[in-house]
Amino acid sequence: MSRSPDIPNAHAERRHAMVEHQLRRRGIQSQAVLEAMGTVPRHLFVPATAQHTAYDDSPLHIGQGQTISQPYMVARMTELLNVEAGSHVLEVGTGSGYQAAILAEIGAEVWTIERLPELAAMATSILRQLGYHKVHVVVGDGTLGLPEQAPYDGILVTAAAPSIPPSLTSQLGVGGRIVIPVGDRDIQELRVVKRTASGLTETSVLDCRFVPLIGAEGYKDT
Ligand code: SAH
Repeated sequence: MSRSPDIPNAHAERRHAMVEHQLRRRGIQSQAVLEAMGTVPRHLFVPATAQHTAYDDSPLHIGQGQTISQPYMVARMTELLNVEAGSHVLEVGTGSGYQAAILAEIGAEVWTIERLPELAAMATSILRQLGYHKVHVVVGDGTLGLPEQAPYDGILVTAAAPSIPPSLTSQLGVGGRIVIPVGDRDIQELRVVKRTASGLTETSVLDCRFVPLIGAEGYKDT
C-alpha cells in the first residue's frame, strides 16, 4: 500500500478521544449519536489548514465568515432532535455538511439548505465523496423551510434566529421536533419545539452562540 496509515490513525484516535471526553463524559447518552460522532471524519469537513484542530473542543472557521459548531453542540442538538433511521429531516444551515453527515449516519434522510452557494458546493462535494447519498443539499433561504418535502420528523436550525420562523413550525409533522437557537446576535438559547396532536410546546435547554440566520423569517441583513 502506498498510503501512509499514520494520518488516518491519528484522526481516528482523536475522534475516539473526542467522543469519550467531550461527549460521553458530559452526558451525551444516545448510542446512535455517540456512534455517528465516532464514525464521521470531521477533519474532512474543515479547511485543510485546520485539520489538526478538527477534533478540538471548539467551533472552527469554514470560510465565508461561517463556522462548524463545537462537537458537543452538534451531539447535543442531534440528541435533542431525537431522530432515528428512516426519519425525514430538514437542516437549515448546511455550512460544512458535517451536521448533515451525522444525521445521515444515524440513518435519517436529510434535506439541508444553505444560503451561500460556495459552501453548499463544498458540502455537496465532500458528502458525495464519503457516500452520504441520503443528504440532499439545496441552495436557498432556509427560514422558509422546504415545503415540497414537508412534513418533517425533525428540523434542525444551525444558525441563530431572532424568533422561530412560522414556516418551519408549519412544516413540522405531529410528533416532530424543531431544535433551534433563538436570541440576539451575541447570545441565544437553544430551544426545542414539539408538535403534539394538541399543538406546539416549547422548552429552553441551554445558552449558545451561533452565526446569524439571515432570511425572510430571520435577520434581515448580514
Ligand atoms: N451545520 C453546519 C454549521 C452551520 S453554520 C455544519 O455542520 O458545518 C450556519 C450556516 O447557516 C452558515 O453556513 C450560513 O451561511 C447558513 N445560513 C444562514 N442563514 C441561512 C438561511 N436563511 N438559509 C440557509 N442557510 C443559512
